[in-house]
Amino acid sequence: MALKALLLGMKYLFKRPYTMLVPEKEPPMTTEKTRGRHLLDMSKCVGCRMCQMVCPADAIKMYKVEGDFKQNPKKIFPGIDFNRCTFCALCVEVCPTGALSMTDITGWYMTTTDTRTNLRSPYDLAAELAKNEKPDFRVTITKQTFLYQTKKRG
Ligand code: SF4
Ligand code: SF4
Repeated sequence: MALKALLLGMKYLFKRPYTMLVPEKEPPMTTEKTRGRHLLDMSKCVGCRMCQMVCPADAIKMYKVEGDFKQNPKKIFPGIDFNRCTFCALCVEVCPTGALSMTDITGWYMTTTDTRTNLRSPYDLAAELAKNEKPDFRVTITKQTFLYQTKKRG
């Protein structure tokens, strides 16, 4: 048994590693199903906290913000701690208004040695939408596409 394990280990000793360094400049490879950074449409969020309640990683906290948000009388919006997020997309699935969606942005953008920089406020999550109603990067996961993919898998 031990010899078998040793031989197996020897076999991989001279092979190239399966892992690779995350490139700092080039975006990493993404696929049709890559789930990356979230977007928040603050004009749709009603502050129901369902995304926070469903999050299995306790990555979402609600923040009170200033501003005129008639659909959200308490003015509370989600922020996400990407140090905790597992990108399971449950928060997107449960959101009743489609305020949360996901992009295929991953890789170096999402990694850091300073954990404080991976805490994203509601304004951070909304920034790309505020700049441009149709951001350059592809939005891969919305409630609809998530349900579609789940149905296809099932
Ligand atoms: S993707 Fe999953 S882990 Fe990340 S914030 Fe949403 S529910 Fe939480
Ligand atoms: S993002 Fe969606 S689920 Fe979360 S508080 Fe806003 S409306 Fe509710």
